[in-house]
Amino acid sequence: RAKSQGGNQASLFEQGYSSRALHFLELEQALRKALDREEFILNFQPIYNAFDGALHGFEALVRWNRPGRGMVPPDEFIPAAESTGLILRIGDWVIDEALRQLSEWRQSNRFPAKLTVSVNVSPFQLANPNLVGLVRQLLTKHHLAPSDLLLEMTETAFMADESRMQATVKGLAAAGVGLSIDDFGTGYSSLAYLRYLPAKELKIDRSFVAGLTTNARDEVLVSAVIALAHALDMTCVAEGVETAEQLEHLRRLGCDQVQGYFLGRPVPASALAETWQE
Ligand code: C2E
Ligand code: MG
Ligand code: MG
Ligand code: MG
Repeated sequence: RAKSQGGNQASLFEQGYSSRALHFLELEQALRKALDREEFILNFQPIYNAFDGALHGFEALVRWNRPGRGMVPPDEFIPAAESTGLILRIGDWVIDEALRQLSEWRQSNRFPAKLTVSVNVSPFQLANPNLVGLVRQLLTKHHLAPSDLLLEMTETAFMADESRMQATVKGLAAAGVGLSIDDFGTGYSSLAYLRYLPAKELKIDRSFVAGLTTNARDEVLVSAVIALAHALDMTCVAEGVETAEQLEHLRRLGCDQVQGYFLGRPVPASALAETWQE
């Protein structure tokens, strides 16, 4: 009996493994096609000045409009894109499209003249030495200045190649592109990054914002992160603001910019045009 159970477990394990492998292969195939068929779209979420409520910029967030499956969120395909290397092509597309959109907004005069666009980049993109040249080229193509663009990077447990990443990041900063540390406080070496990353912005992870009004420790941490950012001459942005209380609290603590469902959800550019019609 024990033997047959063992045999059963082994075959279940194999089944599970092969179906996962199959799922992955299928996903890779579909992602390749998605690039050629232009199935990716960007949503944009507003980022506001915490004090006067002025619109500061938009964060571009990628979605995959997968035929027959609906809108696939990034968490469900970015990891596969990273392990297949496709993230480089997807990432290039995201930067190109975000800058194209910003340039269109600039021409429409609908938004503040200094509107910025923030784009998330994977550590695999930062490990690619071509990124600096590509970003420069795309800025020129869309007639934008380096400071119009912010690149958001997370502190990932697995860093692709630390020394190459440092070189790219320095190159981007030297070119005048804004660098932002995303989800600050959740990575394993947040403070170590601050030693060498020439970042101008720090985004407090939404898990801290969520506990702000209910957890005294979260308040201390948020307040300390804001002080840290300011002492390093960085702008502090709070993400995941979901309530008026959280917003009020962040303003009182001196947080510079705010972003979250309470202020505006990520939406396609076409939906923004309706909201911001004068
Ligand atoms: P992130 O950069 O930290 O983006 C914030 C995420 O939180 C977004 O999820 C956004 O929709 C969500 N969010 C915004 N406000 C609120 C709020 O008030 N409450 C809650 N609960 N959530 C909020 P999304 O769009 O699913 O993106 C998830 C992550 O995927 C992003 O986290 C980013 O790390 C990554 N990602 C998104 N777009 C790209 C991209 O173009 N390239 C790369 N490499 N990664 C991307
Ligand atoms: Mg981000
Ligand atoms: Mg974030
Ligand atoms: Mg995140």
